[in-house]
Amino acid sequence: MNDLFQTGIGFDSHPFSEDRRMVLGGVSIPGVPGLVGHSDADALTHAVIDALLGAAGLGDIGDHFPDTDKRYKGISSLKLLAHTAQLLKSKGFKVVHVDGTVLADRPRLGPYKEKMKAKLSKPMGVPPSAVNLKGKSTQGLGPFGQQAGLVAWAVATVHRRSK
Ligand code: MG
Repeated sequence: MNDLFQTGIGFDSHPFSEDRRMVLGGVSIPGVPGLVGHSDADALTHAVIDALLGAAGLGDIGDHFPDTDKRYKGISSLKLLAHTAQLLKSKGFKVVHVDGTVLADRPRLGPYKEKMKAKLSKPMGVPPSAVNLKGKSTQGLGPFGQQAGLVAWAVATVHRRSK
């Protein structure tokens, strides 16, 4: 038996819309515009999903949950994460660790980080300590500093026993 560790990276960006509710890392955040997208547009969760799929060599979020599919309209991205985690499990992969970064001048991540870690870790079947999150401000630089939207990255490490 050999231990196989693989790593994947995920990225996502969505523009803000005053007409939408902000959901980030599975947590609803009041007082800021939401994100435009086919699902709940949770950019951080989408980045985590892509990182997991990348780590397991299973393509990307669009391969599995196309935004042309009506089933995914307005869906909670935590459900997509749960599907993804199930897929990885069926291929023999176990999630080891996920690290995410959100670049945004608003919302500030600080007050929500622990709740996000709890929300994201549950569908992956790992403790919250296996998820790390970082919030970065742009200090007003570029389109994200102009509060046009936000960007998220994630890196996932997965483990599989190979014969
Ligand atoms: Mg997305």
